[in-house]
Amino acid sequence: MNTRVRQLFRSFLLWELLKGLQVTGRHLFARKITVQYPEEKAPKSPRFRGLHALRRYPNGEERCIACKLCEAVCPAAAITIESEEREDGTRRTTRYDIDLFKCIYCGFCEEAWDSIVETHIHEFHFENRGENIITKEQLLAIGDQYEAEIAAARSADAPYR
Ligand code: SF4
Repeated sequence: MNTRVRQLFRSFLLWELLKGLQVTGRHLFARKITVQYPEEKAPKSPRFRGLHALRRYPNGEERCIACKLCEAVCPAAAITIESEEREDGTRRTTRYDIDLFKCIYCGFCEEAWDSIVETHIHEFHFENRGENIITKEQLLAIGDQYEAEIAAARSADAPYR
């Protein structure tokens, strides 16, 4: 039987369709791996770096003393810090902005010192121009909200620390 006749015979028997259905049939009763996000979530790496947060000490004092190491080390120049001396002689930031459009989530800032950290939060979005600049007040609020999780992720027992 030459090739042309064989092709004609196969198309008459819907051979390609049967081959396709065979693949469908093979996967019909296989275990489903589709994750129904956001109701279901896939596991995240313990080393995942997401939205930033500024931390406080247990007495409520800000950890950040405006040393500006994170600003200096940031390869994307995403961090802007301004500071001033307080009446008690200590130094604290008056401005701590991170441009989340510039940030590449490299984690260098959190390596600089333990006041700025990256959380596991990846579900955030912006609706208006300028919201990509996250301010000191927002960063502290995130830190306050997620402090327990942040502290646990940085404890000596945590994986990859
Ligand atoms: S994660 Fe990297 S790019 Fe983003 S602010 Fe920190 S140092 Fe800059």
